[in-house]
Amino acid sequence: MSSTRVFLHAHPDDEALLTAGTMARMAAQGQRVVLVVATDGEAGLADSSADLGLRRRAETLASARALGCARVEFLGYGDSGIDGGAPDSFCATPVDQAAERIAALLVEERADLVTSYDPAGGYGHPDHIQLHHVGALAARMARTPVLLEATVDRDLLLRAIRAAQRLRLAPTDVRAERFLDSYVPGSAITHRVNVRRYAAQKRASMAAHASQASGGAGVRTLAALLRLPAPVFRLVLGTEWYVRHDL
Ligand SMILES: [Zn+2]
Repeated sequence: MSSTRVFLHAHPDDEALLTAGTMARMAAQGQRVVLVVATDGEAGLADSSADLGLRRRAETLASARALGCARVEFLGYGDSGIDGGAPDSFCATPVDQAAERIAALLVEERADLVTSYDPAGGYGHPDHIQLHHVGALAARMARTPVLLEATVDRDLLLRAIRAAQRLRLAPTDVRAERFLDSYVPGSAITHRVNVRRYAAQKRASMAAHASQASGGAGVRTLAALLRLPAPVFRLVLGTEWYVRHDL
């Protein structure tokens, strides 16, 4: 019997950077992969902000197709932006309300695994911290047996950023100091998933989010990663990290 894995994300393109390889790998193994996105990412950067939410939904559907997802659900909460502004935003929604909606979906899907984010919300975005709390409560409500918190090995990340800075390869919007309290230390990681075989799908997922690769000023992280030659891309983006909790 195939199993169902539900990937919770805060914004369109978070799936591409954090869990795309794992999703493609599970889908290729015949598992049912469901993507749930809390907001439309309308506070993201873009050259033109008109209908950005709609555009980002379309980009997410294209990304999900590239990864082999069986279903995509948009919860439609407001994108708080990095400063946590808007009153109707996901991060301002009561945790139990949002968790109830997700728990209903987990029950409907009979999910045996759900993913969320680490307690720091990765790099500290208020919607990501909220997703950590909402995901944990939803998994308990639905009695989903396994919760995986998607994260990054912070020690590895800091070493990589400092090396890139020494070689003057770092994107202009990336500074190592910003990440000192981000994600989790390497010692906390329980699962390092090798997704090198799914690098092409992961790259397609990232490329689908074109509004975030080209919009805004300066060199964007997504754009910089997409410019990496294929062998380097496989090396840099060939691992995804999780902290597992059995419920
Ligand atoms: Zn996000």
